[in-house]
Amino acid sequence: MNFWHDFFENENPIHIEVGMGKGRFIIDMAKLHPEINYIGIEKYSSVLVRAIEKQTIEQLPNLVFIRMDAEAIENVFEKDEVAYIYLNFSDPWPKDRHARRRLTSVQFLNRYVNFLAADGGLTFKTDNRPLFDFAIEELEPAGWKAQVITYDLHNDAALMEGNVMTEYEEKFSSVGNPICKYIIYR
Ligand code: SAM
Repeated sequence: MNFWHDFFENENPIHIEVGMGKGRFIIDMAKLHPEINYIGIEKYSSVLVRAIEKQTIEQLPNLVFIRMDAEAIENVFEKDEVAYIYLNFSDPWPKDRHARRRLTSVQFLNRYVNFLAADGGLTFKTDNRPLFDFAIEELEPAGWKAQVITYDLHNDAALMEGNVMTEYEEKFSSVGNPICKYIIYR
């Protein structure tokens, strides 16, 4: 046992979403997969409070939130503790000098390695093509490999199977923006 398995009082796999915003995705995932423990991480209370309001009604035993800046994420999880990481519509930080703040940067990929299980994976969705291109370029220097890459998720029937929409995904796909997605592993 370790901290998070003690916390959830079971040995179920732990999946996390970094930058969960108002929580629609992770709440829907926790409802769909009661056999998985979900931890949502969000920097700002102003959006996190919306997720907490929903969880107060839903009372899902397999879902918890942490308000923190993910720059310190290595302090929260132990080696091999997390089975899967979700990044959805992460902030683009468009200026080059802020590239290391992007949740798909080499710097963040290196942080995830400290606690993602060796057979674990990471999924990233965005409608921001320059951010997606950057994310793909970061894979090789960080030592990660792509299992799936699509530039138009919503027109790929196989990849759409079981797709759970995020707040931003709903908003941007409804105005016609193609949604990019990768699934990567180490
Ligand atoms: N994932 C949600 C979705 O797809 O609807 C929200 C997307 S929103 C554009 C990005 C969220 O990530 C924001 O709520 C932001 O506060 C959060 N975020 C960005 N950088 C973060 C960091 N370093 N640590 C924690 N949360 C972060």
